[in-house]
Amino acid sequence: MPRRRPSALRAQRALPRPVYAGAEHCRSDRPPGPWPARIDRLSSRTTAAIHREECRRPYDEGLWPGATLTALETCRHFLALPGRWLYLRRDYCACEHCDLRNDIAVARDLLQLVVSRLPPRPRRELEAVLAALDGQLWRRTVPDPFARRQPHRRGAWWHQRLYDLDHLL
Ligand SMILES: [Zn+2]
Repeated sequence: MPRRRPSALRAQRALPRPVYAGAEHCRSDRPPGPWPARIDRLSSRTTAAIHREECRRPYDEGLWPGATLTALETCRHFLALPGRWLYLRRDYCACEHCDLRNDIAVARDLLQLVVSRLPPRPRRELEAVLAALDGQLWRRTVPDPFARRQPHRRGAWWHQRLYDLDHLL
């Protein structure tokens, strides 16, 4: 479920981006790197199907070359953090590239979008990878009973886990 309408995204891109402390890592102005032969644990055939979908549509529809790889990396990095419990994070920089790298709910939304666009065989393969990630995500995050009071968090279950707000203070 896209959190922002394409027109809002276009307007956002047209404006100079405000500079926040901690925003130096923003990489949205860099071109995408070379396309990998394989993404994560996916076959080259599924990787190719994902690449086709990423390149097929206008940028505003929520996918761009390399976005799936980035989203999977975000999930792996998050789940590799130490500790029994993990708390979701948002970023200082509100651009969609930083969101995708830092907010696992955004990354998981993007992966769901990819699933919905793939043909059956590559879809099943990606779904199997996501099922394993979801299992870990479910076990290591904490339900947020008040999440549904916020309209933008009424989507999939991964929007209703507790965020770590301390790092924003
Ligand atoms: Zn950014």
